[in-house]
Amino acid sequence: MPLYIDGEWQSSASGKTFASTNPATGLVLGDVADGDRTDARRTIEAAASALPRWRARTAYERADILLAAHRIMLDRRDELATLMTKEQGKPLRMALTEVGYAADFLMWFAEEAKRVYGEVIPSARADQRFVTLQQPVGVCAAITPWNYPISMITRKVAPALAAGCTSVLKPAEQTPLCAVETFRVFADAGVPPGVVNLVTCSDPEAVADEILTEPAVRKVSFTGSTEVGKMIAARAGMTMKRVSMELGGHAPFLVFPDADPEHAAKGAALVKFLNTGQACICPNRFIVHRSIAESFLATLRTRVEKLVPGDGLEKGTTVGPLIDDVALKKMERQVDDAVDKGATIVIGGSRLSGQKFSNGAFFAPTILSGVTPDMLICSEETFGPIAPVLVFDDEDEAIAMANATSYGLAGYVYTRDIGRAIRVAEALDFGMIGINDINPTSAAVPFGGIKESGLGREGARAGIAEYLDTKVLGIAL
Ligand code: NAD
Repeated sequence: MPLYIDGEWQSSASGKTFASTNPATGLVLGDVADGDRTDARRTIEAAASALPRWRARTAYERADILLAAHRIMLDRRDELATLMTKEQGKPLRMALTEVGYAADFLMWFAEEAKRVYGEVIPSARADQRFVTLQQPVGVCAAITPWNYPISMITRKVAPALAAGCTSVLKPAEQTPLCAVETFRVFADAGVPPGVVNLVTCSDPEAVADEILTEPAVRKVSFTGSTEVGKMIAARAGMTMKRVSMELGGHAPFLVFPDADPEHAAKGAALVKFLNTGQACICPNRFIVHRSIAESFLATLRTRVEKLVPGDGLEKGTTVGPLIDDVALKKMERQVDDAVDKGATIVIGGSRLSGQKFSNGAFFAPTILSGVTPDMLICSEETFGPIAPVLVFDDEDEAIAMANATSYGLAGYVYTRDIGRAIRVAEALDFGMIGINDINPTSAAVPFGGIKESGLGREGARAGIAEYLDTKVLGIAL
């Protein structure tokens, strides 16, 4: 599969390719162009030369193209979801949901394109008027992860295009085919040459280096690990690029004594094992009041017993593989550390064996009880199917435990006391809080974190503001 530069599908400058594989079977799905620094430069040049024409289009014209992309993406929902399951591993039903979520951003930002308003600001001088304009930032680079391989692209590219920016994408090396098919949607929707450009590569460093050092790139939007995000933000600062950083998380899931333990455990099982635990908003610590810990654990266990691990294309599968062996080893390390320090394995705890699992990176859905804050799993992001359960005795202790992390992305509060729900939600240092609810996300709401989980917001009205500069006009009458 080729690169997409200036409206053309092209081989990499070196002619090299790399393979994309299925994490459930280990089988090669296809070869993809292996871009390097030269290719990255070509994508940036194409985006820079397309910028004047694209920003000059009306918001209505840009919106029409995004709406066409929305329609095409939904028309291809089945094909895109099947490819995603093969390349990333999530069960087909979840892949279909993700394609819908990805399309939502195309629709949402097509609408927002028409609502980019400036302001008229009163002046202290009678003979002066102030007006602000909102103008596109310029060439924007997007660097995306493998876990949501299509929606993370549209969440960045759609607002860039809506705002009048042009775009260069470097997708994750684990899911390049999903990126290629997403770009086919853009091409078929009539996005003009050079407005969106794709450089796939097996080694991100050289491509990222070109993006980060090239002054023509005015913004970098990154989704991925906090470790890489910090490095990218620091380097982007050298040419004062705008940055948006959607990074890792360590979500607390608080269950108070007045919560319905069944409802809480049901929600816990759904959101913890979502995408095999490989979502940035997956709970990483279940912090449960001592008085209901036993009933919560019993229900959670019952629900985990019903999960069906396997190849996401097989009917009935509810949990797919992890992305690779490195992830498997991380699960083993976190379980071993917790057990060494006194935790109990309630269910799971090891990689899955047997013919069905022999060629993929499968780890058993796991619950750990008796977990304490000194365990590795309480500080390191797990990004896998392990649910550690800690207990607390009072509200202040629960809040302190929840906030004892450098991350600040998502958090969850289960209680039937409305006062407590609001009090605790306000006290939690996280960007998104689910209250008796496991999905505080939508294209219509601002997605993002605080502390080391990132900078900026995606989706919502805030999502397009990230691609706009404010210009002031001071006018003498
Ligand atoms: P990652 O940081 O390894 O990779 C993300 C992207 O960065 C990929 O495109 C990768 O090729 C690139 N990259 C990796 N090393 C690089 C380097 N040295 N220089 C430049 N680019 C480099 O993360 P991942 O494993 O792909 O994704 C998982 C992480 O992403 C988790 O921490 C998860 O929480 C986070 N995530 C966050 C959100 C969010 O919205 N906050 C959403 C999804 C995933």
